[in-house]
Amino acid sequence: MEQRCVVAIDGPSGSGKSTVSRRLAVALDAAYLDTGAMYRALTWAVLRDGVDLSDPEAVTKVAVEAELTLTPDPREPHIAVDGRWVDEPIRSPEVTGAVSAVASVPTVRRLLVAQQREIIAGADRIVVEGRDIGTVVAPEAELKVFLTADQEERARRRSAETATDHVTTAADLARRDELDSTRAADPLQQAEDAVELDTTGMTIDEVVSTLQELALSRASGTGQ
Ligand code: C5P
Repeated sequence: MEQRCVVAIDGPSGSGKSTVSRRLAVALDAAYLDTGAMYRALTWAVLRDGVDLSDPEAVTKVAVEAELTLTPDPREPHIAVDGRWVDEPIRSPEVTGAVSAVASVPTVRRLLVAQQREIIAGADRIVVEGRDIGTVVAPEAELKVFLTADQEERARRRSAETATDHVTTAADLARRDELDSTRAADPLQQAEDAVELDTTGMTIDEVVSTLQELALSRASGTGQ
């Protein structure tokens, strides 16, 4: 694919966004941006500094001062905070438990959205995953996708990924979905012109090839 193409992939936790987005980026020879990793990395810094999660000003101060570095390679995406690679610690239960609170602070979102837009502007082709990509970060994206899957399947997938028991995982997903969908600033929302894809019962290969076809037809201007 020669044309510039931005693919926005949004959806709730456990909908398969990360696996699908990375595989799609490889298939399209595109860069990859995991915006959830950015919110997680800031949350890691907030916890590192012992900052009170319920104090938006203190949380914002960390967001202003922390330096995030990302490698946009879908085969090996990495993220660092202040020069330290944090790929593993940002997936810890502590960070997962605190991230929605950090992501609900409007000033934190403004800072991260600005960084995300800069990264997108610097790429020819990029697959961007998150909660507000089609609605806020890149509303001009050539292809916007809203991935869903039923609650049970999402919990099953996430539980297999994180080696956490099913009941705990299901409760965590439900809690984060509720917080992410009901917050005032940039809630999880399907863009009006997004393609909704329910991945329940689909294999990853099926999802990736469906999206690859859509992206190729959009980029060549033959899609609607
Ligand atoms: O995608 P992931 O589950 O790693 O995202 C972690 C958290 O980051 C989400 O639960 C949500 O609170 C926040 N997030 C967000 N906006 C995005 C991406 C993630 O608020 N674009």
